[in-house]
Amino acid sequence: MKKIWRCTVCNDIHYGNCPPAVCPTCRVKNAYVEIDKSEARFIMEL
Ligand SMILES: [Zn+2]
Repeated sequence: MKKIWRCTVCNDIHYGNCPPAVCPTCRVKNAYVEIDKSEARFIMEL
C-alpha cells in the first residue's frame, strides 16, 4: 500500500513507498514527511 508524502518546504505531494530524495519542485533534500489521507485531502482541496 502506497504512502502519501508532503514536502515541508513547498507542500508538493508524492505517492509511493518512500519519498523522493530530492523534491522535484523546490529541490530541497529530505524535505518530505509522511501524512495521512485526511491531511492529503485537505491540502489538495486548497
Ligand atoms: Zn518541495
